[in-house]
Amino acid sequence: MKNLLDDIEDILLMGPGPSCVPQKVYDALSKKTLGHLDPYFIKIMDALKEMLRNILNTKNTLTIPISGTGSAGMEACFVNLVEPDDKVLVIINGVFGVRMQDVATRLGADVDVLEFPWGTPAIPEVVEKKIKSTHYKIVSIIHAETSTGVMNPVAEIGSILNGSDTIYLVDVVTSLGGMEIRMDDWNIDALYGGTQKCLSCPPGLSPLSFSDKAMEKLYSRKTKVPNWYLDLTLIANYWGSNRVYHHTAPINKIYALYQALFLIFEEGLENVFKRHQENHKYLVEGIEELGLKMLVDEPYRLPMLNAVSVPEGVDELAVRRRLRNEFKIEIGAGLGPLAGKIWRIGLMGHTSKKENVTRLLNALKAIL
Ligand SMILES: *Cc1c(COP(=O)(O)O)cnc(C)c1O
Repeated sequence: MKNLLDDIEDILLMGPGPSCVPQKVYDALSKKTLGHLDPYFIKIMDALKEMLRNILNTKNTLTIPISGTGSAGMEACFVNLVEPDDKVLVIINGVFGVRMQDVATRLGADVDVLEFPWGTPAIPEVVEKKIKSTHYKIVSIIHAETSTGVMNPVAEIGSILNGSDTIYLVDVVTSLGGMEIRMDDWNIDALYGGTQKCLSCPPGLSPLSFSDKAMEKLYSRKTKVPNWYLDLTLIANYWGSNRVYHHTAPINKIYALYQALFLIFEEGLENVFKRHQENHKYLVEGIEELGLKMLVDEPYRLPMLNAVSVPEGVDELAVRRRLRNEFKIEIGAGLGPLAGKIWRIGLMGHTSKKENVTRLLNALKAIL
């Protein structure tokens, strides 16, 4: 019998995630599986929580990885914080904002949407006017909108919400590990990330953190959290000091996340963020030299996700196919209204290296 795993190719992952995984993280996955209540595993869990707090710049006790991808983190935030008929404001300027709206609506929230043109950021003054018009229980936004390559002004909106009882919920799936996140300074109450973007770890976990304010909202619910698996009142008892079994932690994935964070702190957060900026600049220069245009205006561009407009008359799918088949490089396509109109080039985590940018630019030059 043929084993398909023998023929997996070495593809340079330059799409919107997953990103390239360092060998040390693969090695971590293959370490011996411990019991999920083993004292040594608990030691690893505690050290992992501490690294997550450090990368998020938070003191929040409940700072843990959710078992599931980034979308499970999104679902966990909303399902724990939303009660039926809660007024929720979702700020939208891309696909992941729309996903938030869908998740909140399914939970019976009374959802208002504030939409900005895709490819442009949310404007704090407009958000402020909207927030002042209604008493929202939750305001949510995407930090790094992976579908368009736009960075949203998360800190500015956080300062607007300072002192209010509104819960501020932020998606940091793509920003986490690629740019600074200051959860406490920015007044963020609930956030979730993902492992396969700038943390350069295979997909499967979603780091999540809840502030005291978010925990109060959770513990003062009138109804049980409507999803058993993601119920943080139960999960907190496993990750907290009482260690009550809820579901079996994905042990080896937790090793991998530990190792990925370890590598980031070894390199130094400042150096990691600088590397993302430098390789982004290098890519943009090369893209413009090829006569291509970036979708997003310079001040709002993400360093880890570069949206490039597909030139008139070019078959975007054919280009991606040739990159994958001849050059062994994966890049991403546009989503939703941007399908067919952009390519999305990821420079996330371990992928963000000068030699990778050069390899892609040379391939694009040959194809175009
Ligand atoms: C990738 C992504 C998600 C979803 O994460 P999955 O791991 O695919 O479930 C959510 N939000 C943003 C901004 C993302 O980039």
